[in-house]
Amino acid sequence: MSVRCGIGYDLHRLAEGQKLIVGGIELPFEKGSVGHSDGDVLAHALCDALLGAAGLGDIGTHFPDSDPKWKGANSLRFLEHARKLLDEKHFAIEHVDAVVILEKPRLGPHFPKMREALAGALGVTVEHIHLKAKTNEGVDAVGHGEAIAAHVVATLSRP
Ligand code: MG
Repeated sequence: MSVRCGIGYDLHRLAEGQKLIVGGIELPFEKGSVGHSDGDVLAHALCDALLGAAGLGDIGTHFPDSDPKWKGANSLRFLEHARKLLDEKHFAIEHVDAVVILEKPRLGPHFPKMREALAGALGVTVEHIHLKAKTNEGVDAVGHGEAIAAHVVATLSRP
């Protein structure tokens, strides 16, 4: 069996009048992420981690933001498509570990629903998805509440 890891990173600006969607879940907050799709940083970083581990490029390769088809798209669809691409290459998802960085709101209470949504899109159990959250200690754009970022490492196996 071969094991491969991939890393993914994403950042979106936060602005009023936008929805805040993280890990497929809409969170009640005064600001939301600005993006061509639904601006889900966690789903985007996860998608890049999966594609990277499989050697399949990145999210921009498969879902270009120049394509009107993806405007306002539910980013869980990106994960479902990534999962199909992994299946075609006979990759199984062993584990996903993620950290989301934002100043507010607190994400921990929403983790169970996020894990369910992400695991559902990827066709794995929630035990395969591990989520963590950090603030940026008030420093830089993320710390000033102007942006949200995520880092994800995904581990795949292949017989
Ligand atoms: Mg993005």
